[in-house]
Amino acid sequence: MSSAPLFEFITAIAGEAVSSAFEDAPLVDVHTHVYLPRYADALRARKDAPRIASLDIGGRTEERLLILDGEPAAGRPVGPQYWDREEKLKFMRRHNIDVSIVSLANPWLDFLSPDEAIRLANDLNVDMDAYCAGSPIADGLPSLRTLYGFGVLPLAPQVPVSAIVDAVRTLKNLPNVRGVIMGTRGVGAGLDDNTLEPLWEAIQASGLVVFIHPHYGVDSTAFGPRDNGHVLPLALGFPFETTIAASRLILAGVLDRYPDLKLLLAHSGGALPALSSRLASCVAHDPIVSTRLKHDARFYLGKLYYDAVAYGPDELSLAAAVVGRAHKYSESGGSYDAEKASRQLLFGTDHPFFPPLEETQRWRSVDENLAAIQEAQGLGVTAKDEVRGRNALRLFDLIS
Ligand code: URA
Ligand code: ZN
Repeated sequence: MSSAPLFEFITAIAGEAVSSAFEDAPLVDVHTHVYLPRYADALRARKDAPRIASLDIGGRTEERLLILDGEPAAGRPVGPQYWDREEKLKFMRRHNIDVSIVSLANPWLDFLSPDEAIRLANDLNVDMDAYCAGSPIADGLPSLRTLYGFGVLPLAPQVPVSAIVDAVRTLKNLPNVRGVIMGTRGVGAGLDDNTLEPLWEAIQASGLVVFIHPHYGVDSTAFGPRDNGHVLPLALGFPFETTIAASRLILAGVLDRYPDLKLLLAHSGGALPALSSRLASCVAHDPIVSTRLKHDARFYLGKLYYDAVAYGPDELSLAAAVVGRAHKYSESGGSYDAEKASRQLLFGTDHPFFPPLEETQRWRSVDENLAAIQEAQGLGVTAKDEVRGRNALRLFDLIS
C-alpha cells in the first residue's frame, strides 16, 4: 500500500489538530515488556528461580531478577521501570514513541502448575487490558491509546489444550489486547507439538498476533566457564532459541496448515534469515523431510513478521531481503517483492531490558534500532516510515 491514502486516512481521524509527532509519522514499539504487578508479586513469592529476590548488593538491599538458566548469582537489577506504567510512558515520551504494544516479559507461566497457570493467565490478561485502558490517548492519533497489550496463554506442562483454546477466545473480548506473547516450549514439547494443533487453529481464527519470544536460550555449557556476564545467553542463546522454534514450526507444516497465522518473531528472527538457505538445502537433502512441505523452506520466511530489534542496518536489511524474496521460493514461483520486504518489519526496543550503564537521556538500544531502520538498504523513505509505525498499526488492527 502506498502511504498517501493511509496518510489521508490518519489525517481524517486526527482532524485539524495534527501534532508534530503525527506529522513525522507514528512511532510504534511492538517489543516492549512489563512485569505486571501481580506477576512481579508471584515472582517475589518464589524461593527458586524464576524469581525476584531481595539481595545484599555491596551492603544495600536491592531487588534482583533471577530468571535465566545459569544466571550469575546476583541476577540483574530490577525496579519500577519493569512494572510501573508511568515509567513506561516516561520512556515513551522521552523517545517520541507514540504507541506501544506491551507484553509480559519472560518466562511467562511456564513454571506453574496447570491450575495456577490457567488462573494467573486469566487474571494477568484482565490486568493487561486495564493497564492499557488507563493509558492516555496517543499524541496526534485521537482514536488510539498510547498502550495496547499482548495477552498470555496458560502454556505450561500438563495444561489441557482445551483450556488454552478457551483462553484465546476470552482474549478476544478484551478490547486493548491485540495478540499473545509466548515462549518456545508450548506445553513442554515445543511449539511443533501435535497437541497444539487446535491452538493454532483457534489463534488463526481469532486474528490475534502471536509474538514468539525466547527465554531459555541454548544449553549454557556451550558458553564455557569464563564469566562473560549475560552477553552470550542474550546475544546468541536467545536468538538461536527463536531460530530453532521458527524452523520447527516450518518443518512441522504448521505454516502450510495455518497460512493466515500472524507470527511475529523476536529479535528480527534471530539467525533464521542468515541460515534459511542452509535450512532449505538440508530439507531438500533429507529423505524424511524433503517431500513434507508444500514449498521450499525459504518461502515460509515471507509468512512471518519480524521485529526490527536487529541493532544494525545490515542485519535488518537481511530480514527485509528474505521476506522480499520469499515468493521466488513458492511452489508456483514468483519474483522479488520490494514492497512486501518492508511490510513485515516492525520497530521495537525490548524496553526495559538493556538499560544504559550510565545515566543518559536516550537509550542506546532505541537509537541503534531507529538508526538500523534509517540506514537499511533497499527500503525507501515511505517503507521506513511503515516499519517505524504504520506496519504495526495495521497488523494490530489499529488502523485499516
Ligand atoms: N530481553 C528480554 O526480553 N528478556 C530478557 O530476559 C532479556 C532481554
Ligand atoms: Zn524481549
